[in-house]
Amino acid sequence: MSCEQVPLIEFLLGELGSSETEHVLSHIEGCPTCRERLQTMAAVEGVYRDQHSSDQNIPRFWFVAAGLLIAVLVATFYPIWHRSSIDSLKTASLASEEKYPYFPLHTRSGSEGLETDIRERAFAAYSAEQFREASEWFIQLPPSADTLFYSAVTHYMLEEYPQALEQLAEAVKLDNQWKTVGLWYKANIYLKTEQKRPAQKALRDLVREGQNEYRQKALELLEKLETR
Ligand SMILES: [Zn+2]
Repeated sequence: MSCEQVPLIEFLLGELGSSETEHVLSHIEGCPTCRERLQTMAAVEGVYRDQHSSDQNIPRFWFVAAGLLIAVLVATFYPIWHRSSIDSLKTASLASEEKYPYFPLHTRSGSEGLETDIRERAFAAYSAEQFREASEWFIQLPPSADTLFYSAVTHYMLEEYPQALEQLAEAVKLDNQWKTVGLWYKANIYLKTEQKRPAQKALRDLVREGQNEYRQKALELLEKLETR
């Protein structure tokens, strides 16, 4: 965006959408000329209002003050705010995009007829990464530990994190075999949702579980999170 293209007046009047506002802010932050222009425009706008409005006019000093204030605030805080929003994006980018591999549960018995059919459809959809469809089948099944766990991973892949967290907790409560991988997905949910400290806690818990398939990945993530 060149200086002439920056819609300062609209910005000052609060008429821009959020992405345009972001562009203007990022430009003003690096451009002393436009910060000065903004202050001048604020002053001129104030004069214009003084001359053209009757009783319900907004006082001139308000525009001058607003222009000055915006210019100063942007120069001071925009770099900090902008940097922290980039940092949080980086946290989400560390999170896993992979679903837990499906191992067919041949040894599980006790289900019959329709339930077996629904279970097969659910896992077929899960394996084919048709997560929306899988989710619709999973909710029709009785909440066993296995169903809850795979359903939680399905929610994770669909970016439905509150449901994923809740079902992970229930699956682990019913069957401790899901504990380490449960912690792995829990940590990744916190990474995805920019919650660094809870993510670190879940990763440390995972490491503390001793040797397991996700331990090495957890250690690597903890190291990366340290430097952010
Ligand atoms: Zn400029």
